[in-house]
Amino acid sequence: MVQTMSDKQTVTPENGSQEFPQNTILKGVGVSVGIGIGQVVVMDRLVTEICPCRILTPEEIGDELARFENAVQEAEKRLNTIKSHIVADHPLGDHSYILDTHILLLRDKMLYEGTRRGIEQGRQNAEWALSEVMSRISTAFESVDDEYIRERAKDVYFVGERVLRLLLGVSTEKKIHQLPGNSILVVHDLSPADAAQIKRESVLAIATDIGGRTSHSAIMSRSLKIPAVTGLEKICRMVKTGDTIIVDGSTGLVILNPDAEMMFRYRQRQDLLRNYHQSLLAYGRLPAVTRDGSRTIKILANIELVDEIDIALAHGCEGIGLFRTEYLFLGREDLPSEEEQFEAYRAVLALNKPSPVTIRTLDIGGDKIASSLNLPPETNPAMGLRAIRLCLNLKGLFKTQLRAILRAAHYGNCRLLVPMISCITEIHSTKAIIAEVKAELGSEGVQFGEDTKFGILVEVPAAVAIADLLAREVDFFSIGTNDLIQYALAIDRLNEHVNYLYDTLHPAVLRLIRQVVNAGQAYGVSVAMCGEMAGDPVNVPILVGLGIDELSMNALSIPLVKKLIRSISYDDCLELTHQAFQMQSAQEIHDFLEKWIFEKFPGDYFLSQQ
Ligand code: PEP
Ligand code: MG
Repeated sequence: MVQTMSDKQTVTPENGSQEFPQNTILKGVGVSVGIGIGQVVVMDRLVTEICPCRILTPEEIGDELARFENAVQEAEKRLNTIKSHIVADHPLGDHSYILDTHILLLRDKMLYEGTRRGIEQGRQNAEWALSEVMSRISTAFESVDDEYIRERAKDVYFVGERVLRLLLGVSTEKKIHQLPGNSILVVHDLSPADAAQIKRESVLAIATDIGGRTSHSAIMSRSLKIPAVTGLEKICRMVKTGDTIIVDGSTGLVILNPDAEMMFRYRQRQDLLRNYHQSLLAYGRLPAVTRDGSRTIKILANIELVDEIDIALAHGCEGIGLFRTEYLFLGREDLPSEEEQFEAYRAVLALNKPSPVTIRTLDIGGDKIASSLNLPPETNPAMGLRAIRLCLNLKGLFKTQLRAILRAAHYGNCRLLVPMISCITEIHSTKAIIAEVKAELGSEGVQFGEDTKFGILVEVPAAVAIADLLAREVDFFSIGTNDLIQYALAIDRLNEHVNYLYDTLHPAVLRLIRQVVNAGQAYGVSVAMCGEMAGDPVNVPILVGLGIDELSMNALSIPLVKKLIRSISYDDCLELTHQAFQMQSAQEIHDFLEKWIFEKFPGDYFLSQQ
């Protein structure tokens, strides 16, 4: 992060944040274009910092002890409920010991007795007493070398936080859905569960300390049309609620304490961009056919929530190329029932009929954590028990989702997409479960989409290597470049420190894509792309040249991508692709493609970078 500021910073005593000179500029990673100017709401103060503190009268002590006891019992009840939901077919066999441990920790000597002592002897209210114990625990253990002990201390802290939230009467999630209008949301990290709660009418922009371009929170910000900058490292501590800031999601700049002239300049840019995007909308209604008429690319939208359909349709999507269904599971403590899922899938299918809707089966894991599943933490979640691996292990959960999807498929043009396939056995196992579900639905006399198409996300390099084998098993491929790049280039897509290496145009990535297209063409399997790469205008000519049949993207990108495809010829794309494949580095290819686009579409190039 670059910080431009004079050394005359002062610290305001009440909140610890600093007062910066006017127009202090922070540089992060712009992950969702557009400009937001508004008042900061910092959502990351720890629960312990918002605890009310009160000295009890001697008469109040008994009631306070009872209040604490009730909160502990309620926490125990909720942990038992979670346990009853998932123990039956948990992937790690009986891992209920983790929940049992948390239940036992509720009565941990340090935590439980320590809090009671604070109430009884210190005459502190329960929240205060508990938060003091929690602070002591984290201070005492944070410098311990032994990782195992540090992790156990974290468990105690986690359990304490659960009780604290119950005492405070706040939900376990941050209250992001209740932000006031015109807010600029500032958080340390925005989990996909947090992002799913955002109401786009009240959040003007998002700024976070950590996170990369293809993190799911970044993807959500783009879907919701909310400008966002991540990787600002310390913005949470630098600003306070009520400060005015500017977030420029295109350049990755955040301006603290802007003066009138700066505000004026940014408001002008905001107007320019608004008019530009408005003028592009007409292209959304047209097909993406190359200028010579020889190739038509289907342009679809990626969505996370049913609510995003209106934006997708307004921007001219020709169906949904990726419905990330796991968002139905995030930010809640229970699991969505078959009925709830069925209604969501049916709504999306019905709204798009007769266009296709590609429903991806659960891709939980990585940065998408469903607290209802209470899965144990993993050292390397991106390579852990996620997506199809988790579903094949949690067969009950998977079957419920498949029932809901197949039932909904009766109401539209449904395609089933399975994430993170890395070997053929996973396809066989998945198909066996689908067959089982179909047989059950059939014997119950329930209507379902018998001929639902079956496809896989090609996002693990191993799947690319055996694409010829996999092609014989599926109706379609969809290339998930977000993960494919992460795994092929060994770059954690969530880590802002290695983001500079995350290169869509790395020659290795282009060769992997070509391999998938070739396998698809050889076996008559259509090849789509639904990773973020598909929606970046700079990549469009090479993706057309490579022979991709379908591009699925953030809805906002659709009009510009259609405009570009309609203005270029297929022969030009083939020639450009041929030349790019002679080049040796991502930078060389990027410069070449950028120059090509710039020369042909200077206005669009300039404005799409804003
Ligand atoms: C991908 O990996 O490219 C993809 C589309 O899926 P997700 O971003 O949800 O992992
Ligand atoms: Mg993926």
